[in-house]
Amino acid sequence: MARRKKIYEGKAKILYEGPEPGTIVQYFKDDATAFNAEKKDVIDGKGVLNNRLSEFFMTGLNQIGVPTHFIRRLNMREQLVRNCEIVPLEVIVRNYAAGTMSKRLGIAEGTQLPRPIVEYCYKDDALGDPLVTEEHIAAFGWASQQDMDDILSLALRVNDFMSGMMLAVGIRLVDFKIEIGRVFDGDFQRLIVADEISPDSCRLWDIETGQKLDKDVFRRDLGSLTDAYSEVARRLGVLPKSNVAKPTLIN
Ligand code: C5P
Repeated sequence: MARRKKIYEGKAKILYEGPEPGTIVQYFKDDATAFNAEKKDVIDGKGVLNNRLSEFFMTGLNQIGVPTHFIRRLNMREQLVRNCEIVPLEVIVRNYAAGTMSKRLGIAEGTQLPRPIVEYCYKDDALGDPLVTEEHIAAFGWASQQDMDDILSLALRVNDFMSGMMLAVGIRLVDFKIEIGRVFDGDFQRLIVADEISPDSCRLWDIETGQKLDKDVFRRDLGSLTDAYSEVARRLGVLPKSNVAKPTLIN
C-alpha cells in the first residue's frame, strides 16, 4: 500500500493528505503537552477519546447549522475533515474565570463572568500564543472585520451549544478554545470551526463537586487524565456500551 503524505505534525495531532481533493485525515495522538510543551507525557488512550469526543461535538454543531470541518470518523484515531486555511488565531470563550484570565486579572477561579468573554490569541508557539486585540488582528491582516464578525458569532454559537450539552450531563463549561478555518466555495469564502473540540481544549468542571474533567488534570497533576476524559465520554453516551458501568440496584 502506498505511504500517505504527512502534511503537518502538531503537539496532539498529525494531518495527512486525504483520499479526495479538499480533504485531510486528522490523526489523534496520545501525546499530552502543557505550558507550551514544557510539560510532556504520553497518555494511553487519550487520542481515541478525543477523536470520539470531537466527532460528537462537531457532528452536533453541523446538525444545528454551525459549519465545521468534520466530515466523518474513519477509525479509532482518525477522522476525515475538510482541508481549510487556518486563521492564525486561538479563539477563547470564557463563562467563568480560570487559567490565564484569573492570573492576569486576579479574579478567583470559578467566578461567574457577567457574560461570555471572547479573547483572541495569535497562534505562534515561539511567542507562546500571546493575547491580541482586534486592533492587532486588523492591522496585521490576520482577519478582516467581516471575518471577525463571523468568528464572534461562530464562537458564541459554539458556546451556547457546548454549554447546553454539558449542563445536561452535570458539567459546567468554564471556557474553551476553538480554531477557525477558511474554505472557498467557488468565489466565496466561508469560515468554519476547525481543529478539534475535546477536553484538551475546554475546561469542564463537575457541577456538584467541582471536579476537573479536562486537561487541567494533566497540567496540575490531579490524577488520571483518561479517567477524566472517559467520564465526560460516558456521561455524553459517547463510549461504546461495553465501557459503561452496568447500573445496579444502588445507583
Ligand atoms: O490557558 P487559558 O486559561 O488561557 O485557556 C483557556 C482555554 O483555552 C482552556 O480551556 C484551555 O484548555 C484552552 N486552550 C487551548 N489551547 C491553547 C491555549 C488554551 O486549548 N493553546
